[in-house]
Amino acid sequence: MKAVVKTKVGVGNIELMDYPKPVAKPGEVIVKVMAAGVCGTDVKILHNETWSNPPVILGHEYSGVVESVGEGVTSVKPGDRVVSETGQVICGNCEYCKTGHQLMCEKRLSIGYGVDGAFAEYIAIREAIIHKIPDNLSFDCAALCEPFAVALHGTWDSGNILPTDTVLVMGPGAIGQLAAQAAKARGATVIMGGIPNDAGRLEIAKSLGVDEVFTEFSEEKIREMTGGKGVDVAIDCTGAAPAIRNAMHVVKRTGRFVQIGLTKPTMEIEYSLLTGREISIVGSFGHQWHNWEQAIKLMSTGKAKVDALITGHYPLEQWRDALGDMENQRGIKILIHPNQQ
Ligand SMILES: [Zn+2]
Ligand SMILES: [Zn+2]
Repeated sequence: MKAVVKTKVGVGNIELMDYPKPVAKPGEVIVKVMAAGVCGTDVKILHNETWSNPPVILGHEYSGVVESVGEGVTSVKPGDRVVSETGQVICGNCEYCKTGHQLMCEKRLSIGYGVDGAFAEYIAIREAIIHKIPDNLSFDCAALCEPFAVALHGTWDSGNILPTDTVLVMGPGAIGQLAAQAAKARGATVIMGGIPNDAGRLEIAKSLGVDEVFTEFSEEKIREMTGGKGVDVAIDCTGAAPAIRNAMHVVKRTGRFVQIGLTKPTMEIEYSLLTGREISIVGSFGHQWHNWEQAIKLMSTGKAKVDALITGHYPLEQWRDALGDMENQRGIKILIHPNQQ
């Protein structure tokens, strides 16, 4: 089968190549990949800016159809439309595995960089992390389940948004847009922030129901929008120090700041806000089982609008163009289609 493979550690070293089609081991399922989203992580793997475990097939956000099942698999059958979580290898026995925090398992290997991922015609995945999707959810939208689950974990679990909250989301990329949708689904008022380059993506956010957007941060304006108080919750989806500092500074007294965007190991923040204004800072990584069910339900019932976030489609052969669009922030979510729909 055709697959996009990181062949060895280092800058570049990614190729479209012929790769053995996976065979289902006991407890595993082979999924024919219909749509796979490109993520910032894929670009980081290309430039050797994050860990990967080559030779390994890239891609960790996807949807598809069950092609075959291994021994002992009972919950899905060939022909089922599915998505899957990313933690393909875990120990299963540690505190994290036993309490639903499997992405925190020290033995975890995720698809797309730890073990073979979804930029290929087929992927092998363990039954326990598969979620079935309803017929009215397109493969394209379903491929957004992974980033949506990340956004829901940050917004609902870590942010604990209430309908009366005003929420500031920094960054109009896919995770930011989906965090905004998650906050809107809870009834909150949402302000989304970006930089002048983000005007187009912020327009899309507005068309999807975001209440206010800005391309230039102004503390005064945010205080105006919130009756002088500041926002109840700020959610950073950029990982960029200036955005983080700005957002943290306009969180109301006793408010919350949630970090979803991946940051550099160290950065300067206004640490005295923790005591001076009694704000809390919460980190959020990945997703849990329930976030996937939430993402599927929100999309299939129309309570979250995501169609407009899908801005590009490429066949597997054009993986370079797909990663290029991601890297240069052309559009929001770019999909790769390893099989014709
Ligand atoms: Zn991702
Ligand atoms: Zn474990």
